[in-house]
Amino acid sequence: MFSKILIANRGEIALRIQRACKELGILTVAVHSTADQDAMHVRLADESVCIGPPVARDSYLNIPQILAACEITGADAVHPGYGFLSENARFAEILEAHGITFIGPTSDHIRIMGDKIMAKITAKELGIPVVPGSDGGVTPDDDIHAIANEIGYPVLLKAAAGGGGRGMKVAKTPDELETAFSTARSEAMAAFGDDAMYMEKYLGKPRHIEVQVLGDGQGNAIHLGERDCSLQRRHQKVFEECPSPALNDAQRQEIGEICADAMRKMKYRGAGTVEFLYENGGFYFIEMNTRLQVEHPVTEMVTDIDLVHEQIRIASGATLGISQEDIRFTGHAIECRINAEHARTFTPSPGKITYYHPPGGLGVRVDSGVYQGYKIPPYYDSLIGKLVVHGRTRLECMMRLRRCLSEFVVDGIETTIPLFRELMDNQDIANGAYDIHWLEKFLEMEKSL
Ligand code: ADP
Repeated sequence: MFSKILIANRGEIALRIQRACKELGILTVAVHSTADQDAMHVRLADESVCIGPPVARDSYLNIPQILAACEITGADAVHPGYGFLSENARFAEILEAHGITFIGPTSDHIRIMGDKIMAKITAKELGIPVVPGSDGGVTPDDDIHAIANEIGYPVLLKAAAGGGGRGMKVAKTPDELETAFSTARSEAMAAFGDDAMYMEKYLGKPRHIEVQVLGDGQGNAIHLGERDCSLQRRHQKVFEECPSPALNDAQRQEIGEICADAMRKMKYRGAGTVEFLYENGGFYFIEMNTRLQVEHPVTEMVTDIDLVHEQIRIASGATLGISQEDIRFTGHAIECRINAEHARTFTPSPGKITYYHPPGGLGVRVDSGVYQGYKIPPYYDSLIGKLVVHGRTRLECMMRLRRCLSEFVVDGIETTIPLFRELMDNQDIANGAYDIHWLEKFLEMEKSL
């Protein structure tokens, strides 16, 4: 087992990983930018190293500085969290070359899944159902009209390097195709420095359902059920639940087993998420994330398995200690992403938290890195915490969530808490009857009132 882990991240996820390390008796090293000197992840770590100025490019994404921090502190492994360098195959390779363990999959697997065209081809080969679309990439030299006609309109142009919903454009009719293709390409070039594109059928009213997997790199793998992340704004998840209100046990087992089987075949190592769109009873693979997800706590609440403990154990070379039969799904869990943003306009709201009172009680978990008096810097993601509740049934879970949202106080800045309070009164949310467009329609309707 490792004796010291460096956590190459900040905010709530850095704290989340620290907690797991402490429980396993492993020392922790925090890295931080000059803007994060007073951050909780720095305060609670056993050691900390400043790795650069506020801009992430020069600090949290600065590989030489992180490597230097490992060497100075003698860390024997790095946990990348999510975002930043978590899906950077080069980072994983560089660490391994220096004898430091990257807590995650092999660089080859990160690379394959990081290229969405490759990922889709691989998924198909492994027996995972995919969204109908182009076989591989689409370039300006291809007859894009012929490809789109074959798939059938509406079609979606997507960037191979895509992430965070960028580099994606819909063409509803042939006359929209050229523009959608060129806009998506230039957006992808600007965001990722890579304009490789592919095309797929645009599904009208899908849900976003993803399967959590764990593999040990030695051919053993299991699934930990699904998460429904259909409540989205601009392709970004807002509210997630486990299990999905749309699936029955047989469907859950079937898709879970397809994913676990694929992971066994590829000898996948670590935690991963296989993401699908789900429509009319069918699952369609969209991508695989080779890391811990923001919404992982809902799975932990329902399975009672600490995913970060498992990631660390697997990275240290242990075989998977849990079999599929050991996994019991108990009750229901929901997560609300609390962002430092205006609840209607979604404009970021950095600044000082003048009063902070998180909710508590049975079945309540708040993963956050903020505290009263903390000044949220303007440089990073606006996620400041996650409110996660567990209940025996979905109804109990919703009642508990409503109670928690009424207790939660974050003063001095704007947050998305008021939006969640409003959603608690909505019949569709109460019934679990929503697809990936539901939230945007709801917000549009509100605007016109
Ligand atoms: P990213 O990596 O940018 O998050 P994804 O491929 O995971 O991209 O897609 C993000 C979101 O975009 C999905 O959750 C869904 O809302 C929407 N989306 C992606 N592919 C399709 C599709 N074929 N049809 C309809 N919506 C899609």
